[in-house]
Amino acid sequence: MTETHHTVGIIGGGITGLALTHYLAEQGVDSIVLEAADEPGGVISTKQVDGHILEAGPQRMRKTPGVAELADAAGVADRFVEAKQEDLYVYADGELGQAPLSVSAFFKTDLLSWRGKARMVAEPLTDNGSPEERAGELFVRKFGQEAYEKFIGPLYGGIYGSDPMEMPAAFALEGLLAQEQKAGSLLQAFRKRVGGGHSAPPVTFEGGNQTLPAALCDTYSDRVHLDTPVTSIEPVDDGRVEAKDGSGPYYLETANESYEVDQAVVTTPADIAGELLSDLGDGTDELDNLRYNPLAMVFLEADHDWVGKGYQVGYGEELHTLGVSWNSQMFGRDGVQTVFLGGMHEPELLQASDERLGEIATREFKEAVGTAASVITVERLDVGFPAWDSSWWLLDDIDLPTDVHMATNYTARMGIPSRVREARQLADELATLEYGTASAETTVSTPADD
Ligand SMILES: Cc1cc2nc3c(=O)[nH]c(=O)nc-3n(C[C@H](O)[C@H](O)[C@H](O)COP(=O)(O)OP(=O)(O)OC[C@H]3O[C@@H](n4cnc5c(N)ncnc54)[C@H](O)[C@@H]3O)c2cc1C
Repeated sequence: MTETHHTVGIIGGGITGLALTHYLAEQGVDSIVLEAADEPGGVISTKQVDGHILEAGPQRMRKTPGVAELADAAGVADRFVEAKQEDLYVYADGELGQAPLSVSAFFKTDLLSWRGKARMVAEPLTDNGSPEERAGELFVRKFGQEAYEKFIGPLYGGIYGSDPMEMPAAFALEGLLAQEQKAGSLLQAFRKRVGGGHSAPPVTFEGGNQTLPAALCDTYSDRVHLDTPVTSIEPVDDGRVEAKDGSGPYYLETANESYEVDQAVVTTPADIAGELLSDLGDGTDELDNLRYNPLAMVFLEADHDWVGKGYQVGYGEELHTLGVSWNSQMFGRDGVQTVFLGGMHEPELLQASDERLGEIATREFKEAVGTAASVITVERLDVGFPAWDSSWWLLDDIDLPTDVHMATNYTARMGIPSRVREARQLADELATLEYGTASAETTVSTPADD
């Protein structure tokens, strides 16, 4: 086995690992990314099937300054495709109604009764949200039961495939609660979060979302190793460097090579992070117990006249469907509609055959949208979706050596812009260190919504 030395070793070539690579390179810090898969991007995964571009992970991202800067650095800034518009719908009481994410939509929509609307705008009469509450309880208390079931619950829970009644506000809503303090309204913060009130438009790329990680991987090909799963992280114990917190530099072990690094950054899903970190820190064996929601995506081809990003299904409806992205209407993706199934709502549905999932998706699509659809293909998420439920309390017990970092979508915000922002902050921090003897702050950031 050969040994190479790098200042920063990054485990995982999803958007976090690749953005971190970019920001470290910008600051002149040497680094390496070891990625298990044979392509970069992690959960950002674009498939080409029968001439269709299909997103088997995130359907879009916000074009924040960080995302725009990364695209520029990777030479794909001219390939952005902006969403044609932001409207979102909810299927409730047997029909699609526009989510009241703007003042005009609020007055126009039939989704909520006048009583439900009046209760919703009574938010200023309610107390501020508290981290002690569940997200769902908090939404009901502030906006009323009707707005929760037909609007806020499905839209917020849909981001995670989770049930907001299972999500402690302390984790799932931390960012929103902070914004509520600033803006004086949780509703304003929520609008910004799910649509309408956000200044950065939703975008994808010609060729799909994976264009960005693929281009970053090409740009930094000297730093990225694909097909190279890390099997363990071992402290170097040869007396060369004074141990810090009982640790030291590390060997990232792979099947064919050992990579010696001063700082290790783990970006992998929780179960793998748990395995890799089990001998290095306290509480890390609990990572395997973080709940993930399984998710299936059925890609349909259909034409319809609705305009917007898609819809979520309201609570209490007799549908299996969690939500649908109108990729065709949003980004001009020739007829493509993406149906999400499973989640915390119905994890056992993932056991069903592709035929059964296709049959459910087409039938329920026709019921909601009013148009027949045909199945292009079915995909299932390998790992699932971090659930942000009460298992997140386990993160409180994690304590890592100062030169081992977690930069993940379950220890901090999940959305792509937030992953990019965290990568930039960590790069800034790592760039200030003197390697070999200095110590860094451990970065298990407080989890928060995105
Ligand atoms: C279905 C879905 C929809 C989403 N929708 C949106 C959206 O619309 N907008 C938005 O902004 N965000 C969305 N998100 C969230 C966002 O896409 C993710 O949080 C983000 O892409 C995660 O990136 P990451 O690099 O942190 O993690 P990952 O993408 O999980 O990357 C981790 C990498 O580690 C690698 N790895 C695993 N084990 C090893 C090992 N032993 N050695 C080396 N490498 C290893 C994996 O192969 C993977 O590439 C969505 C997520 C999902 C799953």
